[in-house]
Amino acid sequence: MSMLTEKLKLSNGVEIPLIGLGVWQMSNDEAEKSVAYALKNGYNHIDTARTYKNEEGVGRGIKASGVKREDLFLTTKISAYSKTYDETKQDIKDSLKALETDFLDLVIIHGPRPWGKTKEDGRWFDENKDVWRALEEEYEAGTLKAIGVSNFEIDDIENLIATANVKPMINQIKYHIGSRDEELVQFCQENDMVVEAYSPIGTGKLLDNEAIKKIAEKYGKSTAQISIRYAFQKGLVVLPKSVHEEYISENAEINFEISVPDMDYLNRLVL
Ligand code: NDP
Repeated sequence: MSMLTEKLKLSNGVEIPLIGLGVWQMSNDEAEKSVAYALKNGYNHIDTARTYKNEEGVGRGIKASGVKREDLFLTTKISAYSKTYDETKQDIKDSLKALETDFLDLVIIHGPRPWGKTKEDGRWFDENKDVWRALEEEYEAGTLKAIGVSNFEIDDIENLIATANVKPMINQIKYHIGSRDEELVQFCQENDMVVEAYSPIGTGKLLDNEAIKKIAEKYGKSTAQISIRYAFQKGLVVLPKSVHEEYISENAEINFEISVPDMDYLNRLVL
């Protein structure tokens, strides 16, 4: 049995399905096929981004699936390079057009800084407030049903919260066996934010891990399923990516329980 009907409530009452299909590193054609397959097979949550350059494919996949727009939770992200109010408004317009929709369930700021910049280059605190103001406006207009952030650290979030009218509802962060920031997760949860685990299979690098393989054999599951179930069991939204139909189905079949000692063992794994 899959866990595709499981949902969490965001701070504004909007429900988010706990499993979503990630589409990073998919071409438009791959995104179209994978999204159509996923939606026809029970998925109801897709995670894309302006910078993935596949929103058109995602839009076509949604159409091809026959699933009603209102039955789907669709996320996209404001480019990490867009750090002004106007660029943010433009990104939202472009995403809506590419995805062929007139609303988005969730839009998040892809990163606190433009890619390639480090904290030493600056913190973009004022710029992120401008980006946030544009998101708040679109949220209040009803175009965006929920808004949030990605790759934000505690002080990046504190910066936004200090002046926000609408608090961020989500932080999407890297979270998988061997790579976790529990302090950040706790901070988010204490501030009413749902945490989404991206790269739950470590962008594929957990697949060949001998320790995880051993646990997988014990449960009669795949290494991917153990990795996804691990983050899911921690209460996080999980966003596994695959272009293979059999994997897309397999990745939602995580209706089993990893025992406390095995979770402890996985907690201690260093990759
Ligand atoms: P994942 O951790 O989901 O791993 C994907 C890799 O695992 C691919 O190589 C895939 O191969 C392979 N795979 C998936 N399922 C299986 C399976 N059952 N058996 C064997 N191999 C499998 O990778 P991502 O890093 O893509 O993370 C997932 C999503 O998270 C992204 O697509 C994106 O939506 C989001 N994300 C967000 C980021 C952010 O900055 N906000 C950053 C990174 C990711 P194949 O496709 O060939 O099947």
